[in-house]
Amino acid sequence: MNKKEYVNEFPILKNVMDLKEVKWINDKKMKFDNLHLEIGINEIVEAEKRLKRFASYLKAAFSEEEFNGIIESPIFKADNIKRELNKNFLGDLYIKRDDLLSIAGSVKARGGIYEVLKHAEDLLIKNDLISYKDDYKKIMDEEIRNFFSKYTISVGSTGNLGLSIGIMGTKLGFNVEVHMSMDAKKWKKDLLRKNGAKVFEYESDYSNAVKEGRKKASQDPNNYFVDDENSKNLFLGYAVAGLRLEKQLKENNIEISKENKLFVYIPCGVGGGPSGIAYGLKLIYEDNVEIFFVEPTHSPCMLLSMVTGLGNKIQVSDLGIDNITLADGLAVGRASALASRMMKNILDGIYTVDDKKLFKYLKLLYIEEKIKIEPSATAGLIGIDKNNVNGIHLVWSTGGKLVPENEFLNYLSKKI
Ligand SMILES: *Cc1c(COP(=O)(O)O)cnc(C)c1O
Repeated sequence: MNKKEYVNEFPILKNVMDLKEVKWINDKKMKFDNLHLEIGINEIVEAEKRLKRFASYLKAAFSEEEFNGIIESPIFKADNIKRELNKNFLGDLYIKRDDLLSIAGSVKARGGIYEVLKHAEDLLIKNDLISYKDDYKKIMDEEIRNFFSKYTISVGSTGNLGLSIGIMGTKLGFNVEVHMSMDAKKWKKDLLRKNGAKVFEYESDYSNAVKEGRKKASQDPNNYFVDDENSKNLFLGYAVAGLRLEKQLKENNIEISKENKLFVYIPCGVGGGPSGIAYGLKLIYEDNVEIFFVEPTHSPCMLLSMVTGLGNKIQVSDLGIDNITLADGLAVGRASALASRMMKNILDGIYTVDDKKLFKYLKLLYIEEKIKIEPSATAGLIGIDKNNVNGIHLVWSTGGKLVPENEFLNYLSKKI
């Protein structure tokens, strides 16, 4: 189809093509009871158990303050920013602070680290170096590090996935190769090199970095490729968030019900992270949760994928959209086919947001709440601008802890 035919068939794409902010409502969304669930809750529970097995190792390997080995983030009630964004807002606003997640400082500490740990465990079990009942602190042993040094893990990334795989993989003793798209920030590449990862830089976008990484990894049987466009393990790692959030809301006496629904807003790049989280939440809250993704007006790949039903067979350039955004974590032109399929009947909708607003949110969050996050991570706040309904609104903040101070100051003073 050419641009004109796309617009004729899907009229919302006119505004998308003109880079206007849109809100798309998914008319294929189904009631929970009618969903065909490809992945059951048991697999997500297994994933959480795996993470528990690794907790003693993680705590010992990363001597972060107040880290018990479980990578999880707090929720924060953000009354000040709620008032600033809309003083007549009907719901309660909470921010899910994945920007504070241990080890990788972004939402990628869920999926990325999970997949590295799963791969590590698989290798150790296969080679009789560990059993599920052992204390995994043993993975600190020189013998196991030497064993992992014969293996490589690689990944394509706009930055944060690379960081999570790189920091975790090198800590275990793996060789790590990260294929970085042109959007990747210099400080992220520097940090990876400092950790001993090998960084490959490309002048092209994310999809190409993934393709190059996949190609190189396929030439070596000991090189395991973390495939952000297809990976079920990444998905499961993200989905664990649902189980954890349920506990957390209960602990905070926040009850989700038909009368007090949960509205969740998650920034979306290729879709792997947000779709895994959304899936986990859906299994827990069924029809009492509504989930929205948020993408930059210049990188609406998941929107195109879902509106047209074309999965990964469509990219933003097909509509003449440039995929140039200051939200580096969301600069993705072609969505994950897996994410798009999993979300087909689950997602409630997608918002697009102008880059200018991300910087407005970034400043407001800092001034009103003293929260320092990266531009991509602020996108969910558009929900508070635009979805004024009663209930619990959870804005997923997706990254920021590792951003160097001078970078953050640059963000604060940015004029766009
Ligand atoms: C990766 C990332 C996202 C989105 O995750 P995808 O899996 O790419 O959709 C959102 N925010 C930040 C900061 C990220 O790094």
